[in-house]
Amino acid sequence: MAASLELRNVYKLYPRRSEHSVQGLSFTCYPGEFVAIVGPSGCGKSTTLRMIAGLETVTSGDILIDGKRVNDLEPHRRGIGLAFETYSLYPPLSVFENIAFNLKARGVPSEEIRRRVEYVARATGIEPYLQMKPAQLSGGQKQRVNIARAIVREPKILLLDEPLSHLDAGERKQMRIELKRLHEEFGMTTVLVTHDQREAMSLADRIVVMNEGVLQQFDTAYQLYAEPVNYFVASFIGDPGMNLIPVVFDHQDQHLAIRFESGWTYVDLETPAPLSQPVSGWLGVRPEDIALHHRPGPKTVAAAVKVSEFLGEQQQVELDIQGVALRALVDGDLTLDPGQSVAISFRRWYAFDRLDGHRIIEFTEGIPAAAR
Ligand code: ADP
Ligand code: MG
Repeated sequence: MAASLELRNVYKLYPRRSEHSVQGLSFTCYPGEFVAIVGPSGCGKSTTLRMIAGLETVTSGDILIDGKRVNDLEPHRRGIGLAFETYSLYPPLSVFENIAFNLKARGVPSEEIRRRVEYVARATGIEPYLQMKPAQLSGGQKQRVNIARAIVREPKILLLDEPLSHLDAGERKQMRIELKRLHEEFGMTTVLVTHDQREAMSLADRIVVMNEGVLQQFDTAYQLYAEPVNYFVASFIGDPGMNLIPVVFDHQDQHLAIRFESGWTYVDLETPAPLSQPVSGWLGVRPEDIALHHRPGPKTVAAAVKVSEFLGEQQQVELDIQGVALRALVDGDLTLDPGQSVAISFRRWYAFDRLDGHRIIEFTEGIPAAAR
């Protein structure tokens, strides 16, 4: 039932555009896998999905479904189901008729249509609305009809383009859970396009991160979070986002030295210099990787509390270290007053090259884990 999907070096140049909207995109989804494509608005997500669907031509490169090249195959012969952000339901038809529409057009016997529509309606929670018209439904219900209509064709691959973006926060959360359950129940390969990294992280087995038409990283949510390959992925994945501070990575007496723009230099006396010459880069530290200590220690740095925002179990603190602003996420129980001085350390941090953005070093508890 589920199919594999492979993109091989796919490019898209729209007419009258000077830049490619998709550039050299390659990735493979296993049969039954849930893959999300995430990235900022305009990065080429929808273009990619539309090329997979056959609604948009491929400028160069190949798209393969179950190992067969489909570049020239009509959309309806690719075994795909589609649901977009906007519902495109037929207003005069009932919900039942909307879902049944394509099956009818293909000449599926009416008894089977009834059975299949009722089954997907149950699975998507819209059984009570089958006789209503789309205009009588809420946004979330319309999107369920939209998805039911895509699933009823028993596609081998389900393509979803921002299906939750129009919904309010509550509906979105509910639909997220239902999408996951539907994927488990029907087992089809699913490609979800979203600009919301949280949605991608919570739903997908693996995530394609795109920026400006180019694949940045294709990995599990955890790998994207813990091992971002470059500045873009580091800045895009995670909420609140990673602190990214312009610095120069250098060495001083065989040890790693980090020179901040404020002129302050931090020398890590426990870490041998991993670089032979100074490199302009970004120091990356996730807010949740900043630890607060009761008293200064050999690896701590003095910081001043600027403001603290209480979030419940946690609090978000704006810190100042020698003129460098840092955001930290710490225990909500701590009392932190503006102006108070604290000792902090980094559980894990990253170094990215200023020029090409690539990760050059990753440190866990001060130990270099990878160096280029
Ligand atoms: P996303 O879905 O990630 O927001 P899109 O794939 O819609 O991005 O768009 C990627 C780029 O391609 C954008 O610069 C957009 O303006 C351009 N684009 C999209 N569709 C067309 C089109 N039909 N004609 C020309 N340019 C397009
Ligand atoms: Mg889009």
